[in-house]
Amino acid sequence: MEFYSPDSWREALEVKAAHPDAVPIFGGTDVMVDLNFDRERPGGVLDLTRVPEIQEWGHDNGRLRVGAGVTYTRIIAELGEELPGLAMASRTVGSPQIRNRGTVGGNLGTASPAGDALPPLYASDAEVELVSTGGTRRIPVTEFITGPKRNTMRPDELIAAFLIPKAEGPQQYSKIGTRNAMVIAVCAFGLVLHPEQRKVGACLGSAAPTPVRAREAEEFIEGVLEWDSREEIGESALGRFGELVGEAASPISDVRGTAAYRTHAVSVLARRTLKWAWDEYRRGE
Ligand SMILES: Cc1cc2nc3c(=O)[nH]c(=O)nc-3n(C[C@H](O)[C@H](O)[C@H](O)COP(=O)(O)OP(=O)(O)OC[C@H]3O[C@@H](n4cnc5c(N)ncnc54)[C@H](O)[C@@H]3O)c2cc1C
Repeated sequence: MEFYSPDSWREALEVKAAHPDAVPIFGGTDVMVDLNFDRERPGGVLDLTRVPEIQEWGHDNGRLRVGAGVTYTRIIAELGEELPGLAMASRTVGSPQIRNRGTVGGNLGTASPAGDALPPLYASDAEVELVSTGGTRRIPVTEFITGPKRNTMRPDELIAAFLIPKAEGPQQYSKIGTRNAMVIAVCAFGLVLHPEQRKVGACLGSAAPTPVRAREAEEFIEGVLEWDSREEIGESALGRFGELVGEAASPISDVRGTAAYRTHAVSVLARRTLKWAWDEYRRGE
């Protein structure tokens, strides 16, 4: 197996163009598991950890542009204020060791329906920046992920970054697992409030073949919330929001949980996170 270790982004793109079968690796927290279990025998491995360009984040036309190689630990420490939902999700990933190595770029590359970084990206209409020696394209994350562990990245492309608006209001992320830490989500839910636009973004994780936006639930609750008077949300509206989120689920039954449990649990998460986020908005935080 060839091992490529470029020092710059340009060189990494040239290696990928010349060796499209080389598997990119950053934290290796998914790739190494596959190699160790012999699930994958690639012709080459393309180590991106020496490429400084993808380990930076900054502002890009009013949004944040976060390099594919920014680890969960750094997202929590450096972007907790601007991306609270993604930081909450990052805190639930694995253990400190996994968060020190693992990246959102790797979560996108794996495209698991249970990837914890994905619901916050979906709920905020994030875009993925894909680059090859031929050029750059930015596509909505909803179009980037096409199925369980499938995405639209071409063999000559690499993920450079994701682009995401910074929080304009409260955000939440909640996850159910079979224990409190080091756990793949049984189901999860990400929520963002946009008070200025009177909009809500809601995304289910691990409850369908890909993360999925709960569009009907969003529209329903946007029509109910009293953004100016900041009135409390009634129990029946919270219940209906949860129900509509449950209807957006199309989960499977597996070792982690049954389809019926996932549908029920994700609607409970939706109700709770909406209450927490709205109460935060009411308090003016
Ligand atoms: C013990 C353990 C616990 C875990 N817990 C969680 C958890 O709670 N939640 C969760 O969501 N995940 C969890 N994971 C999975 C994993 O940590 C995450 O998916 C993580 O985000 C992967 O990031 P990475 O940088 O390590 O990716 P890698 O393993 O390096 O790569 C993952 C995939 O992305 C591709 N890739 C990486 N970078 C790029 C790039 N720049 N361009 C193109 N392709 C790229 C790789 O080729 C590969 O297909 C866990 C893993 C382990 C081993």
